Amino acid sequence: MSIEFRIVGQPGHDNAVFARVNTGQGIHRLLFDCGEGCVGELAVSETQAIDHLLFSHLHMDHVGGFDSLFRLTFNRERPMYVWGPPETRRIMAHRFQGFMWNLVEGQPGAWIVSDIEPDHVASSVYLAREAFSVAHDVAEVSDREQRANTQQRTPPNIIATADYTITALAMDHLTPSLAYILRERPRLNVATEKLAALGVRPGPWLRALKEQTPDETPTVKVDGSGYDLAALRAELLVETPGDSLAYLTDFRLDEIAMARLVPALAACQTVICESQYRQADLDLAKRNHHMTATQAAELAKRAQVGQLILFHLSDRYHDDHWQGTLAEAQAIFPATRLHMDVASG
Ligand SMILES: [Zn+2]
Ligand SMILES: [Zn+2]
Repeated sequence: MSIEFRIVGQPGHDNAVFARVNTGQGIHRLLFDCGEGCVGELAVSETQAIDHLLFSHLHMDHVGGFDSLFRLTFNRERPMYVWGPPETRRIMAHRFQGFMWNLVEGQPGAWIVSDIEPDHVASSVYLAREAFSVAHDVAEVSDREQRANTQQRTPPNIIATADYTITALAMDHLTPSLAYILRERPRLNVATEKLAALGVRPGPWLRALKEQTPDETPTVKVDGSGYDLAALRAELLVETPGDSLAYLTDFRLDEIAMARLVPALAACQTVICESQYRQADLDLAKRNHHMTATQAAELAKRAQVGQLILFHLSDRYHDDHWQGTLAEAQAIFPATRLHMDVASG
C-alpha cells in the first residue's frame, strides 16, 4: 500500500500532479489538473489508465493539456471520471464539442463529469457514441457506463473507495479552486507477538479478522474454537495510517482558509502546494487571490505535515528567486523542497 506521485510539467510552466495509489492488488491512477504539455511526460499506458481527473479550477493553465489526455482516452472501454468546481460540466461539454465526430457510432467511451457544489455533487454522463452531445443524468445510462462509483456523495468527501478517500475543499481564487486531500485507508496489521501470547496459530482466519466486520460475522473459528470477532480484532489488530497526499493550488490563504485547511491536512504526509509569490509580493498575492510560499510553509507547520513541495512556480521569478522562495519557506517549515528537487514519491 502506497501513494506514488509525480509532478509533471516544467518549473515556471504549466503543471499537473499524477498519483498512483497502489493497493497491493491494483493501482488507482489520479491526475490533478492538466496543464499544457503535462500529459506528454507520462507514458501512454499510464495516461490511458487514469481513473480520475481532478481539476482544482478551470483557468487555462490548469486545463491547457486536456486535449492530449482526451485523445488517448475518449473512447476507452471504462469510464473516465472528471471532477471540478461548479461549471466544470459546462466547460467540459465545450471541450468535448471541439472536434468533428462523424466516426463514433457504436464506440465505447463514457465521461462522468461532476461539479462539486458546496453541499452536493452534480454529475452528468457524456457518451462518445453520441458525439458527447447530450448531458445524461447518471441514472439514464447503463451500469457499464457509470460503474459503481457515481453515487452522490456529500462534499467535502467526494470519493470513498475501499482503498482511499478524496476530500475536496472549495477555496477562494475569485472563483472556487478546490484543494484536494487524498488519503489511503488505514492499514490493519496483525500484532504477531500478541498472536503468540494468545496461543493461536496464524492461518486463513487472519484474513477474515481484517476484512470482516463483527456485524457480518460475530465469531471466527480459530484452531477449532469460536472467538468473538470484535474482541479478537481489538486484541490483535494494529491500525496504522495509510499514505496521504494533498494538492493545493491557486487560492488565497488568509486566516479563514488556514482555519479550514489545518484540520483537514492534519498529519498529511506530502503537501504539494503552489508557489506563485514571494513574501515581499504578499499584497500582489492577496490581490490576485494566490498565496505566498511563506504562507504555505506556515500552513504546513500548523498542520504538522510530513513534507511540503512547492510547485506551480511563477515565471515572474527565476532560479535565484526560486531558491530565495525556498529559503523563506524553509525558515518556517524545514521539510520544504522545490518541484525540481523532487523526482517522485
Ligand atoms: Zn494557476
Ligand atoms: Zn488560477
